[in-house]
Amino acid sequence: MEDEEENIRVSEVQFSDENVPLEENGESSFCADGKCVSENGRSGGERLEKAGRFLMTMQYVCGVNQNKLDTVIKETEILVDFVYNDIVEKFSNLGFLKPGCGTNSVKQEVCAVFDGLRSKWYQDKYLKESLQVIQPRCVSIDAKFLKKGESQKRKVAIMEKNFFYIPVLEVLEKLVKHPDFEVITQRKCSPDADVLDCYTKGNLFKNNPFFVLHPDALRLLLYYDDAEFCKDLSSRAGGSQKLGCLYLTLDNIDPLYRGNLDTIWLLGFVNSHFVKEHGLGVVLERVRADVEELEEGVVLNDKETFGTMIGISGDNLGAHEAGGFKCGFTANCPCRTCEMKLSDLRVGATLSTTLLRTPERYNMQVEELNSAKTMKERQQKSTEYGIDEACALNGLSHFHAVHGLPPHPMHDLLEGSLLRGVKHIVKHCVVDCSLVSLDWLNSAMEDMDYGYR
Ligand SMILES: [Zn+2]
Repeated sequence: MEDEEENIRVSEVQFSDENVPLEENGESSFCADGKCVSENGRSGGERLEKAGRFLMTMQYVCGVNQNKLDTVIKETEILVDFVYNDIVEKFSNLGFLKPGCGTNSVKQEVCAVFDGLRSKWYQDKYLKESLQVIQPRCVSIDAKFLKKGESQKRKVAIMEKNFFYIPVLEVLEKLVKHPDFEVITQRKCSPDADVLDCYTKGNLFKNNPFFVLHPDALRLLLYYDDAEFCKDLSSRAGGSQKLGCLYLTLDNIDPLYRGNLDTIWLLGFVNSHFVKEHGLGVVLERVRADVEELEEGVVLNDKETFGTMIGISGDNLGAHEAGGFKCGFTANCPCRTCEMKLSDLRVGATLSTTLLRTPERYNMQVEELNSAKTMKERQQKSTEYGIDEACALNGLSHFHAVHGLPPHPMHDLLEGSLLRGVKHIVKHCVVDCSLVSLDWLNSAMEDMDYGYR
């Protein structure tokens, strides 16, 4: 009760006649402490910030699309208008406001919650200017003329091939300014030197002159994979809805946090058809230009920061596209790690370390491809070596496709060999040796506590 009384008393002070300055036109503003709020003060910048935040939450947290956002804006303003009138009426009845005050210009200002945010253009402008949201860049790959229609008077249109790229350095600049950056990058590796649980314990780190010079440098990791949109609609567009998506994370981040979506950033996306036609190199060139700057050192958050790329992960197709390796997996040397022949691979020959690819041999093979005199000769060599073109990131001083495309456990094990292995074990136990019955296995699987339902 005491609190309520206190609140009423405070309200009385705030809205008492003596404290409400009257404007020349006879209208008053709602004033909390004798200061007028109507001149772009609290109601200007702060209102815009709150309203912008509200719209962002609607869009990015609640999944409201642009069309529905217009309805949200309209309905919210109707609600605010109602609440405003209600408050004015109640305070007037209680004698806190003079008759007629709190109307017209004040009402307009208070109730126009989304002024400056009504259209998509204004919303984007606000995001860009106020919250410094990084804008993706539209980068042209190629363009060609297309004739539209069937008649002789058909129009000629330009078909542009673009990809969208979010600059690495801008992402990193925002990241290092984050108050949690120091905390999440304090990695806790096992003190046992024999346990290889950190990239920094491996030879690629120890022998890299860049990391010898800058042991605390940022270690960039990319992930590339195709995402098929409209898949559930059984798109008949022949996979044209596929987008190749490029993501970035940092190896400096503790693995505890690295799986969190907040520590994985979209770096770019491109139509998969364009990648097939032009290679992923066109996209990676842009990444390379940024990382080259980072290798030289850039000032981020008032501190000189160094960093380089340590790897690109993805499924075999994605990794081969990124590394310039052939993607059909039918080349004479189809593997990106070794040069085992396809015929030996199929009969399960044992890998010898002498077959492992090396940067020197890769570079030499690319050199041979580039010096081929005819297209046919180039294709023959390409099929022989399993390489289409040089990896665009090889231009970096401290990255090479031979060492920078590690196997990906999720694709290679969980979706690959492990699945096959489990099938063989089940067949052996149930069919070959009758160790357990199929019914027992099914009931055991049903009773298994998977930790979710
Ligand atoms: Zn291999």
